Amino acid sequence: MESSSLFRNKISFLSFLVFLLVLSSPCKFIQSPMDFGPLNLLQTTKTASLDFGRIYFNTPLAVLRPESPKEISLLLKLVSASSFNRVITVAARGAGHSINGQAQALNGIVVEMDSLPSSIEIHKSSGGHGDYSYVDVSGGTLWIEVLEETLKEGLAPRSWTDYLYLTIGGTLSNAGISGQTFKYGPQISNVLQLDVVTGTGELVTCSPTKSSDLFYAVLGGLGQFGIITSARILVQEAPTKVKWVRAFYDDFETFTRDQELLITTMADKVDYVEGFIVLNEQSIQSSSIAFSPNLTSIIPQLFPSGSSSSQIYYCIEFAIYDHPLKHSNLDQVVEEISKKMSFMPSHIYSVEVSYFYFLNRVKVEEMNLREHGLWDVSHPWLNMFVPKSGIPKFKELLLETISSSAFEGPILIYPILRDKWNSNASAVLPGPGEERVVYIVGMLRSANPTRCSTKCLNDFLTENRRITQSASDPIIDIRAKQYLPHYSSEEQWQDHFGEHQWRRLVRRKTEYDPLNVLAPGQKIFTRRS
Ligand code: FAD
Repeated sequence: MESSSLFRNKISFLSFLVFLLVLSSPCKFIQSPMDFGPLNLLQTTKTASLDFGRIYFNTPLAVLRPESPKEISLLLKLVSASSFNRVITVAARGAGHSINGQAQALNGIVVEMDSLPSSIEIHKSSGGHGDYSYVDVSGGTLWIEVLEETLKEGLAPRSWTDYLYLTIGGTLSNAGISGQTFKYGPQISNVLQLDVVTGTGELVTCSPTKSSDLFYAVLGGLGQFGIITSARILVQEAPTKVKWVRAFYDDFETFTRDQELLITTMADKVDYVEGFIVLNEQSIQSSSIAFSPNLTSIIPQLFPSGSSSSQIYYCIEFAIYDHPLKHSNLDQVVEEISKKMSFMPSHIYSVEVSYFYFLNRVKVEEMNLREHGLWDVSHPWLNMFVPKSGIPKFKELLLETISSSAFEGPILIYPILRDKWNSNASAVLPGPGEERVVYIVGMLRSANPTRCSTKCLNDFLTENRRITQSASDPIIDIRAKQYLPHYSSEEQWQDHFGEHQWRRLVRRKTEYDPLNVLAPGQKIFTRRS
């Protein structure tokens, strides 16, 4: 029974080899099937060539659903072996929430990380010096699972993404940012240790003090240096309630000045800061389910019926957490903070929600979009880091390029602080280095299939390219860089990293994945034979 289902669902490595022989003729390699031990590869699954972007659909040859890091190690040793097919690449796939095929491997092998046994082990600090609370979690685990488990112990990680159905390995390969980043840094600044399988199949435990070069290479490393099989993440006492506030502006400069006030002077009182551009009524309706009772008054105030005004507004979103030990009156704290802010008079609204609801807020939007058939659609998203000095010009560029009346989806804008990022990690922020404040701008638009054809999706992608090209043009002098970057030439990647960091990237690649086996979907390096 078991062997027949194996036959039905899996191809043995022997058949896989035959498969390769057929596909990559003329073949100059063959290996005894005995060398492949117990590894079983699945025939290509539909999900392995799919991601949230729904723009790229690269089909791999096969899929590995590992049951242990050792299986990943064996696979990588095999594909690096001199007698093996020298074109095979390997991509770890977390939740597949990339936009541009970053977790795909055309004609390669996709390692589906969700098959690793989920493990979440919590260590609660005894309170002694240097004894931190942390959680050890496997690489394919979703952040929502970590939140659910740690909350049972009254703990939670400090730094989040807006959406929690992403994997530990996936966000740590990028940075992992949200409204807490100004305070605690990105998720990659909150990791104590990693277990990694390098491109040559070596299993390494690394930390800031042990194999530290690999540790920092992997953090924000776009999957280039190793596959994260486990991470040790800092946690702290979890709040219970959150006061979630939105304040509206009709002036961009005042909006950004207040955001910067919140993340600097007010940083000890505020726990979360984001913001978004209000282009039209839809901009408020999306991501506002918790605020729906307020919408009946907000929308007519901002967009009076019959008015043809194309006024654009900006909204700061900030939150104050209630810690069990803080005994703070959340309303009082909000009042104290809002007195220092310059939003449009009386245009401030707040709701009180549980900490879990607050962190999991995008799930509510997901369910709503799914109900309307608007989740599994193409997402030509663009995320940029923009230095403070470039943000006014970048905002102009963005508004000149997109059609504000037809735009569907949020445009997030919020500041973060450079000094919360570790420059040894692979993730890069734009210069100038002496500017402490950097903005993240996320154009999270959907291609609504009822209104957006293939041509319209291509138009959106062309607009994105126009924005990225202008934003990195030295004459225009915005100096932005992409977050979750997507480029097609080595020259563009060199520009993205800058001279020093590009040299470091190449050096690290040569050391940890010399044959360029890993993460081909990022299109940085080409597989070496
Ligand atoms: P995948 O898309 O599966 O993989 C991404 C890359 O990481 C690939 O190159 C892959 O090969 C590599 N990789 C995956 N797992 C591993 C591993 N274990 N070891 C090594 N490499 C690995 N990002 C933010 O920072 N903040 C946000 O608020 C945010 N919100 C989002 C909301 C939504 C709805 C979506 C769809 C995405 C959002 N993202 C956000 C982007 C998200 O963080 C990245 O797309 C991330 O890569 C997704 O994780 P994943 O597990 O789906 O990774």
